[in-house]
Amino acid sequence: MIKDQAKKNHLFTRTLMLWEKKNTRTMPWKGEKDPYKIWLSEIILQQTRVEQGKPYYERFIQKYPTATDLAKAEEQEVFRLWQGLGYYNRCKNMLSAAKKIVHEYQGKFPGVYEQILALPGVGEYTAAAIASFAFGLPYAVVDGNVQRVLARFFGIQEAVNNSLGKKIFAALAQEVLEKKNPAVWNQAIMDFGATVCTPQKPDCMICPLQKDCFAFQQKMVSRLPAKTIRTKVTKRYFTYIVMSWRHQVYIHKRSGQDIWQNLYEFPLFEENEFSEISDFLQKKSVHHLLHEHPTNRFPSLRIYKQPLTHQTIYARFLHIKTTKTLSKNIQNDFFSVSIGELERYAFPKIILEYMIETNFLKNLK
Ligand code: SF4
Repeated sequence: MIKDQAKKNHLFTRTLMLWEKKNTRTMPWKGEKDPYKIWLSEIILQQTRVEQGKPYYERFIQKYPTATDLAKAEEQEVFRLWQGLGYYNRCKNMLSAAKKIVHEYQGKFPGVYEQILALPGVGEYTAAAIASFAFGLPYAVVDGNVQRVLARFFGIQEAVNNSLGKKIFAALAQEVLEKKNPAVWNQAIMDFGATVCTPQKPDCMICPLQKDCFAFQQKMVSRLPAKTIRTKVTKRYFTYIVMSWRHQVYIHKRSGQDIWQNLYEFPLFEENEFSEISDFLQKKSVHHLLHEHPTNRFPSLRIYKQPLTHQTIYARFLHIKTTKTLSKNIQNDFFSVSIGELERYAFPKIILEYMIETNFLKNLK
């Protein structure tokens, strides 16, 4: 194994540049130079797999071909197009960034790293991706793929998810960056991490870096990259009362500091854990509704699950058909919408999953 750091850096960079030439992955945004399109694809791909993100990217580009088009769009219209991707803050930030591009840069995407980084929802990774792919600026991207490859090849044992580790990996990524061609380099190291030096079962046997890879030589592949243990994930239990009345259903817009701001939902009751349905209905004083309609029975309710960053949501849905308007204790800011109108509102992923799986819209008719 090479001991000299400069030589090792050089070998690493040269090997991956050669590897990229033969192994380039095809994606709709590959080779794209339009910063707006790169930005859009990067925002969509944050916390989303490539396969899932592709159709969203294509729909967005078709509907909003420029930042100016996006800045003019109605918030709910954009939310609807985003539906299913989750993490709606990304979508809200995207709209604010589009407006900033129009107001501060006359609709022209900024071409300076610091200005790109100052756009809402754009972190260092996204700013480096846009700066290098669109403008050829020498900024290294650092994501989980990049950190993994660096940790294994160079034998970095600092955790990737603490502040010191982040700094170490960012500095090393910048050091090994091919400054003459940052776009190809950034693509190369990310592609390599995604297809060869994968989290589980990396393809070490065919890896061109194997001979000089610290983790491979020291049999530490499964132990790198190191991570500090994550904070505890909170479990939350949501019971939604899906009240339908003459082909209408009750919804409201979420507000406040909690998750899913500005998305719509049915009347919600949150508990520390799910109670028995009969106790639950009694507690919420909606027990009488069970007798109003023959289908108002809940023999077995499916529990839906949606993991978020620091919490996991468990939700169950009680669909109650009623012959009267909504009872006072769950009225608050709820309003009724007809089935036809329901598609105009954006819902959290877990509610959409319920609606799709139960053929909800058809059942209401
Ligand atoms: Fe990754 Fe294995 Fe190659 Fe090392 S030898 S860089 S662990 S794929």
